[in-house]
Amino acid sequence: MAPRVAAIVLAAGRGVRSGGGIPKQYRLLDGEPMVRRSLRLFLGHGGISVVQPVIAAGDEPLFETAAADLAVAAPVMGGATRQASVFAGLQALVPLAPDLVLVHDSARPFATAELVDRAIAAGSAHAAAIPAVAVTDTIKSVDAGGRVVTTPDRATLRAVQTPQAFRYSMLIEAHRRAAAAGRDDFTDDAALVEWAGKSVMTFPGDPQNVKLTTAEDFARAQAAQGDMRTGMGFDVHAFSDGDHVMLGGIAIAHSRGLTGHSDADVVLHALVDAILGVLADGDIGSHFPPSDPQWRGASSDRFLAFAVQRVAARGGRIAHLDVTIVCEAPKIGPHRDAIRRRIAAIADLAPDRVAVKATTSEGLGFTGRGEGIAAFAQATIRLP
Ligand code: MG
Repeated sequence: MAPRVAAIVLAAGRGVRSGGGIPKQYRLLDGEPMVRRSLRLFLGHGGISVVQPVIAAGDEPLFETAAADLAVAAPVMGGATRQASVFAGLQALVPLAPDLVLVHDSARPFATAELVDRAIAAGSAHAAAIPAVAVTDTIKSVDAGGRVVTTPDRATLRAVQTPQAFRYSMLIEAHRRAAAAGRDDFTDDAALVEWAGKSVMTFPGDPQNVKLTTAEDFARAQAAQGDMRTGMGFDVHAFSDGDHVMLGGIAIAHSRGLTGHSDADVVLHALVDAILGVLADGDIGSHFPPSDPQWRGASSDRFLAFAVQRVAARGGRIAHLDVTIVCEAPKIGPHRDAIRRRIAAIADLAPDRVAVKATTSEGLGFTGRGEGIAAFAQATIRLP
């Protein structure tokens, strides 16, 4: 039978060295609070039964925002030290009495499901198991004055990460003993277990599973997220007879229609070109030639879905889509949110990653004369 595994996510630190004036676990990383990545990792892992966050008193509103819509256990309040915070998390799990517990530091947002797999496997085989990576720098032991005392053999050294995996009953007992002995200074759970006289096994960690502490760490992590690119697109369609226009996948009643080979949706066409621009992958006309009868009257959402698939095929991720519509009429404002939601749905994005703006051209030019509608679009996409 598979073990019942709980994950404790530590987010009780007060560290503000990362900048931004809030504890680092709530700083945005790739558009979401850092702690949310760890919560999502464990929630999405089939081997984990419960995710128990530990937060600092006073951070409830920050945590509520960070964990919105995530089915994690109600957070418990941490203590003055890391050790006290873990103990609080372990005590909250008493009613559940899991077989295994993984303890993870939310400052390590790049842990992967594969690492969690290894933690569960190693924790099932050994009472205590921790992820470790070989040390590439030579490490020196120095005295208070900075003078080198010894140079330990690098081959025997490991840098240790989280999640660390423990038999739950053993770890909570070790914590109780440490608390009874007045010890509150262990910097990780493995050290506490070692103090309690148990053996601790290592398993392969992940060099990408770094800890983010300073503002520089965040900047480096953000830069390492990939090749951030922007692309632009522009499209125009002329008015003709009709009773509605298609803008951003929404039919808007109007005294005129737009003429074009497909449904003449200038907004979606501009977006498609912006996305293809990021990929340096031709333009809408090269993928959907107007000369090809199969695109006659086509609904343009399929063009946008195609461009979005091209991004996914390259391993990319759309960060933001931005459109400006230029026309004297119809009025866009009343339809703005519907257009945003429709574009977001087609592109499989959160609506807050889609912006739709509108302007007139003050009566000037072809849009000013009411001869047609123009749209400008910009896509911001992260490629690997
Ligand atoms: Mg067009």
